[in-house]
Amino acid sequence: MTAPGVVKIVEAEVPEPNSNQVQINVKRIGICGSDVHVWHGAHPFTSYPVIQGHEYCGIVSKIGADVTDICVGQLVTALPQEVCGECVPCRRGNWHLCDNLKVRGFQAPGCAQDYFVTEIDKVIVLPESFTLEQGAFIEPLAVASHSTSRAGLLRGANIAVIGAGTIGNFVGQMAQAKGAKVLIGDVSETRLGVARACGLEHVFNPEVDHLSKAADSVFGSEGLDIVFDCAGAQLSLDAAISSVNKGGTVLIVAVFDQKPQVDMAVVCESELNIIGTMMYHHNDYQQAVESLVAGDVKTTPLESEHFTLEEFQSAYEFIDQRASESMKVFIDLDSQL
Ligand SMILES: [Zn+2]
Ligand SMILES: [Zn+2]
Repeated sequence: MTAPGVVKIVEAEVPEPNSNQVQINVKRIGICGSDVHVWHGAHPFTSYPVIQGHEYCGIVSKIGADVTDICVGQLVTALPQEVCGECVPCRRGNWHLCDNLKVRGFQAPGCAQDYFVTEIDKVIVLPESFTLEQGAFIEPLAVASHSTSRAGLLRGANIAVIGAGTIGNFVGQMAQAKGAKVLIGDVSETRLGVARACGLEHVFNPEVDHLSKAADSVFGSEGLDIVFDCAGAQLSLDAAISSVNKGGTVLIVAVFDQKPQVDMAVVCESELNIIGTMMYHHNDYQQAVESLVAGDVKTTPLESEHFTLEEFQSAYEFIDQRASESMKVFIDLDSQL
């Protein structure tokens, strides 16, 4: 992407892996909301030109001399985080909070290329039984794994998820798999239909019912313990803070375009916990893989549309036109050396 809204396909040398890298023949890329922000020139931490792509899978096509536990031909995905390893968060193992974090597809070159080279410690081997789409879904599933793990004990908890796009859907499914009773809301009936198809039976449309009313009808006097804001708007945050139980928890999973106002009087009076979440750890990728292997999370209902690499621009135009009717849009790559 040379400028917001401008995608160019260029010929490039096939990158060679150094001793501790692997070369991946990329097969599937998922486009997510953050990519769309870059397409619109509305991503605060991205400059142009940038090679996009951070949700993907592919086949290992070459390995470096020191790589021992990955083989050519294996289906893999990889974490897109490039970290310094030296700052305080890195030294404490919180690589996702690295002071010098660069995310591939935003501040470092992403995977939207036929051949992509990445460090061995970022690579996750996927089961052979996985579809290419499942492989590309591991990244957003890892977001759901991380945010649900930050919510505390979910077994027996009454939770609501605001926003039923890919991330909200996966948060709902993972929370349900961890034993929570889940209510999920979205203004798009299409996304609510996808949520139902994934086994999330309690849905609401915030344009019809307020969160507190929907929670009343599902949870009764027990109320709502935890809210995941996967929408990122003033209205969703207000609804979360005003509807959650006293002593309850609000997790911020979405990216807010604009700084919201927070009713701190209610936060204090009700002793609410407001928790931020940032991407994922390495083990969230493993958890994401395990949740698919175990059948805890359904992904097929989320698959919307496929485009080729050459049609990358059309894929964004499709998303712009049909945002509320589409879930995950994929780029299919089919080249082979
Ligand atoms: Zn993403
Ligand atoms: Zn660091």
